[in-house]
Parts: sequence; C-alpha cells; structure tokens
Amino acid sequence: MNPIRNESAATGMRRDKRLQPHTNDSYRAPARVMSGTGCRECGAIYENGRWIWSASAEVTRQLLCPACRRIQDHAPAGELWLKSCDYLNAHLDQVVALLSREARNEAGLHALERIMDIQVQSDGVRVSTTGPHVLRKLAAAMLRAHHGRLSIEYRDGERLLRARWSHESRP
Ligand SMILES: [Zn+2]
Repeated sequence: MNPIRNESAATGMRRDKRLQPHTNDSYRAPARVMSGTGCRECGAIYENGRWIWSASAEVTRQLLCPACRRIQDHAPAGELWLKSCDYLNAHLDQVVALLSREARNEAGLHALERIMDIQVQSDGVRVSTTGPHVLRKLAAAMLRAHHGRLSIEYRDGERLLRARWSHESRP
C-alpha cells in the first residue's frame, strides 16, 4: 500500500454541506493522540495529525485507531444499501468484487476508510464502512459500473452517512 498521498488530491470531491454530519464525531477527535502512536490492531500510525500506513515511522505507544474502534464497537460511519432486484442478483459476484476492490484502493490511500462488513440479505446487500469517504467512493463506483440510481444523506441527528442504490428507476 502507498502510505503517503496528498489528501486533497486524493479526495477531489466537492464538499456538500448537506453531506456534513450534524454532530461531532468522537471517533475522529484527535485530542490526546500524539505523533508516534500506532494502532495495535491494524498497524496504522498517527503522524502529523492523521492516521497513515508507514513502514518507517517510529512507534512509541499503541492504542486502537478510530477505524478499529468502530469495527470493535460495531459503529459504522457509513452504510450503503443495495436494493435487491433481478439485476443485482444476476451481478452479485461482480458487485461484491467491485466493492472489495474499491475499498482496498481507498484503504491504501486513507488508513481510516475501510469496509467493515458486506452482508448479503434476501432483500438487498448492506455494506458498512468505517468512514464516509469510502462510502462515497463505493457508491460512485456502483453508478459507474452498474448505473442505476443513488441517494446519499445524513439523517438529522445521525452520525451515519447513508447511501441507497437501486438498479430500478425508483430506489
Ligand atoms: Zn487500527
């Protein structure tokens, strides 16, 4: 994985006020985390205000990074719901492979942006993520590769970014 990448170049997405959470995110709070801290679970390193992958950084103390805390707490930051339909059922393997590939690329760029879980259910596929950025990437990848319709929103008072995708004309 490439540990160092310019954040703004990698983001490249227009900020939309409606997509900002209404409440502070305790999993992101940088307070009390010092450079040289490593995650004991995934090995990400806290350096210069952000969590990165680094093979060379010197780790002087360890804790759980925000992404691993979310995984441990079952507290996703984003959720993508793919509504079941004939198209989705026929392309399920490709969809899961696409989401996994996109998430792998994203986690390489942003250490805290990962897929937590992909659950295939009778009425659809539920994908939970540790960050909102990877959720937007996954949603965009679905539109690019499989078309369909997408809605994405923070519900009032929630910290969870929700995206819904459907191949039908009405999601
Ligand atoms: Zn971690």
